[in-house]
Amino acid sequence: MIDTLDISIQKVSESKINQVDFDNIPFGRIYSDHMFIADYKDGEWSDFRIEPYADLSMAPASSVIHYGQSVFEGLKAYKNKDGKTTVFRPDQNAKRLNKSAERMCIPEVPEDLFMSGLTELLKLDEAWIPSKAGTALYIRPFVFAMDDYIGIKASDTYRFMIITCPVGGYYSEPVKVKIETEYTRAAEGGTGYAKAAGNYAGSLYPARLAQQKGYHQLIWTDAKEHKYIEESGTMNVMFVIGDTLITPETGSTILNGITRNSVLTIARDWGMKVEERRVSVDEVVKAAQDGNLKEAFGAGTAATIAHIKLIHHNGTDYELPAVENREFSNKVLKELDDIKAGHSEDKHNWLFTI
Ligand code: PMP
Repeated sequence: MIDTLDISIQKVSESKINQVDFDNIPFGRIYSDHMFIADYKDGEWSDFRIEPYADLSMAPASSVIHYGQSVFEGLKAYKNKDGKTTVFRPDQNAKRLNKSAERMCIPEVPEDLFMSGLTELLKLDEAWIPSKAGTALYIRPFVFAMDDYIGIKASDTYRFMIITCPVGGYYSEPVKVKIETEYTRAAEGGTGYAKAAGNYAGSLYPARLAQQKGYHQLIWTDAKEHKYIEESGTMNVMFVIGDTLITPETGSTILNGITRNSVLTIARDWGMKVEERRVSVDEVVKAAQDGNLKEAFGAGTAATIAHIKLIHHNGTDYELPAVENREFSNKVLKELDDIKAGHSEDKHNWLFTI
């Protein structure tokens, strides 16, 4: 526990906000004025500060660069209908950051440090939260190893930071996905459940190969047999087969998505049949062939819901039903947007209001 959180604040002399065209925001390239920083040394977090967003200075031997001891999170803040700043389920991101950290031998970031840093940063950069429907302030907390030491070992020093960037009305065009049966994202006992930097590096090459063939992203399958579905790109994947919402159960190979959990919770609230279990490639392909695959979509913070319009497997493209006719995924997307904006009741207390 951090007893008293003393955050020193150094403000920018002049905000960059007037240089930003809020009607035309490219994803992840424009950062808000400030960043939160905490340093870990001698076994504890200290030196909590907010500073103007700026480049870092670090040793070329910094262990994160060589051995990838680095974990991160992604969440969003919104302006609700009353103009208040709300963050969607940040407590879950704080918990997941620590699950990831544990797996990568990184010290835990106390939840109150995470929440206080986030709160103070958002108070300061509140003007950067866009207010148009569908827009948000994307929040990127991350922790990385700082030791200036080239030997392989868990670092003794770390930095925890939070940066933010406004993101535009992110609507994901329906995507074409390829079921990957050669490369692997994660294996049992590996690091797949952690939001660890290296997992993303390893996924880029297979994704590029699929993109060269005209698919937007991959559906990852299990490492052993490539028979069971895991995730879609950097989203969890869900299917409506007949009248049932089906998604792979999480374990050591799948990131336990907060959007995934929110979608499943809402589906259960609505009395829909929901199954979290192993989902075989054969089952999905057969449902597509038989016309029982009503909907398929990715669920994640960036797009909330990304409809899948086509699934490729083993040389065959399977076209899915028209997106406008998909009842569940369109309705759950609207419900999540409405909860965030304050138009629907937040009955599970998902919103953290600043
Ligand atoms: N899987 C992976 C590999 C991801 O990177 C993400 C994005 N964090 C997700 C799933 C979706 O998680 P969430 O809903 O918490 O954004």
